Amino acid sequence: MLYEETRRAVCETARRMMRDGLVKLTSGNISSRIPGTAHIAITPSGMDYETMTPADITVVDLEGQVIDGARRPSTETPMHRLAYQRRPDVGAVVHTHSIYASAFACLGIDMPVISTELAMVVGGTIRCAPYAKSGTQEMAETAVTALGTEDLVVFLQNHGVLAVGRTLREAYNTAVALEEAAMIYYLARQMGTPIIIPAEERDRMFREFRRSYGQPKGREE
Ligand SMILES: [Zn+2]
Repeated sequence: MLYEETRRAVCETARRMMRDGLVKLTSGNISSRIPGTAHIAITPSGMDYETMTPADITVVDLEGQVIDGARRPSTETPMHRLAYQRRPDVGAVVHTHSIYASAFACLGIDMPVISTELAMVVGGTIRCAPYAKSGTQEMAETAVTALGTEDLVVFLQNHGVLAVGRTLREAYNTAVALEEAAMIYYLARQMGTPIIIPAEERDRMFREFRRSYGQPKGREE
């Protein structure tokens, strides 16, 4: 199978996304750049995560042409492609419909960072991309424009979450961290007015986390 390693990683992350409750049924989608190529491996459209195998992951180029695989790629492929085209630093894209983050996305406002976990993973404020019809080039444009040149995650108004990262693990962890933060924000709002972490402290945590978290190179699981 062409690019088996990347397709396996995309498949495993997609199944994990369902096990972790970030998506239900066939919603959400995941992709990864294939190192050293202009191709990406992306989850198929409308397939059950439970039975998905690496062979179901479709390989497309950055123009959207299918390179390998029998399945039709995700309907939200335009958003993935544009993220890779605009952001050379992005190696993986994760799109979820996780409940608390999606609820926040229905407000159409940016979310301030109130938990240290989210500050470490994303740094600054989480922006909300304006509403656009799912799967369209317009949605790709509004989502990737909201991401800008360095943000790692945005809300998609009335829809869900778009997270990017240098690796699949990084993009996935960011999507998880945002869901957790949205839940914390919701609960904190019920009890009072959440305190926003000052920008300087957020930046420091973000930089430090990127530099020092995890195991030294070569000792990762
Ligand atoms: Zn979606």
